[in-house]
Amino acid sequence: MAHETKQILRRLKSAKDLSRFMADYYYELNEAAISGKRKIAWCTSVGPAELLRGLGYLIYFPETHAAMLGATRMATDLIPTANAMGYSPEICSYLTADIGAFVKGITPLSAAYKGITSVPKPDVLVYNTNQCRDVLDWFNWYGDKFNVPVVGIESYRSVGEITDFHIDSIASQIENLVAPLEELAGCKLDMDAFKQAVALSRECSDLWAQCLATASAKPAPLTFFDGTTLMGPAVVGRGTLKAVEMYRLLLDELEERVNAGEGALVGEEKYRLYWDGMPVWGRLGMHSKMFAELNANVIASTYCSSWIFSALDPSDPFKSMARAYTELFIVRNDAYKERYIQDKLDVFGCDGILYHNARTCPNNTNCLYGMPQRLFRKTGIPFVIMDGDLNDLRCLSDEQTKTNVEAFIEQLEEMK
Ligand code: SF4
Repeated sequence: MAHETKQILRRLKSAKDLSRFMADYYYELNEAAISGKRKIAWCTSVGPAELLRGLGYLIYFPETHAAMLGATRMATDLIPTANAMGYSPEICSYLTADIGAFVKGITPLSAAYKGITSVPKPDVLVYNTNQCRDVLDWFNWYGDKFNVPVVGIESYRSVGEITDFHIDSIASQIENLVAPLEELAGCKLDMDAFKQAVALSRECSDLWAQCLATASAKPAPLTFFDGTTLMGPAVVGRGTLKAVEMYRLLLDELEERVNAGEGALVGEEKYRLYWDGMPVWGRLGMHSKMFAELNANVIASTYCSSWIFSALDPSDPFKSMARAYTELFIVRNDAYKERYIQDKLDVFGCDGILYHNARTCPNNTNCLYGMPQRLFRKTGIPFVIMDGDLNDLRCLSDEQTKTNVEAFIEQLEEMK
């Protein structure tokens, strides 16, 4: 007898546009790498992408590739290759999975995009340590492998109040990148193109922020799990018109849903949750289904909001980039982070918080130094901590996760 699959989540039409966007992005990079017609910069996810666009580089983001290794569940088998080379299982599993894949000569791009056989070779690697030190170790490994320069910005971490000192220091580091990047690009920085990239990045960021804000509607038109893939253009396409167009389409669709009172869950949205930390890429589908079956929607997150850069201003590109890349949640101290999450709980009307304790990324994990308990004392909003990882599936137990989440939802039910 055939089993009927019950639909529990509504699919967004824009998901198709997103797939096309990502395909175009990787094919353009692949073609440039083969023809040598455009220079390619590898960039960290919150590196100075706008400057690179002003210099005419195409930009490849290894973190997005590493997330694909996670989502395709290839990562867990590749991590031991990097471990054997001396990169500990305790460090970033984006790094270990990505280097492991490179050493083994495989990439999920081949299965996703016919004709692409490898990641595009870099002409330069450009980092910003605003997120962690791992990106520097990761980029240095490739710099050595490809024998190309590694340049970047050394950022401050655990920043409380952002002062002129921080901004001037980061802005001058970005300006100092211009000369070496011009030399490698073989052309001068086009200030108009640079400012245009900053303007487009800002527009992309504003639209993405508006898309995420639609989840304050009840029921919410999207889930955190939708957001983790829909944020692709904000990561790899910021500074381009195509990314802006993608988010105009998405925002229209989300607003249509809100106006129609249609939520992302087919069933009732009884519980609204905040997700702190990274997704478990290899369990996106499973987790999204698990919450939907419990009539719970994860409607807001720290992670998806990481690509909102509201300070960007084309009239002052260097300083506004410095501010935008320092204002980010991951760069800030715990006092700021607590205020930030408290505000989101309020704006989105959340009933509970889920903290993902990602084993290999303490930088995106906020439950290790008493924050859940402090926030609970301030807000009375219950929390649950889920042990896991972004890419290394050996760090999580599906059974344990399910048991913890179900018990948490029961706790929320009792409080209603
Ligand atoms: S922030 Fe975390 S996931 Fe991202 S590169 Fe650093 S260690 Fe890896």
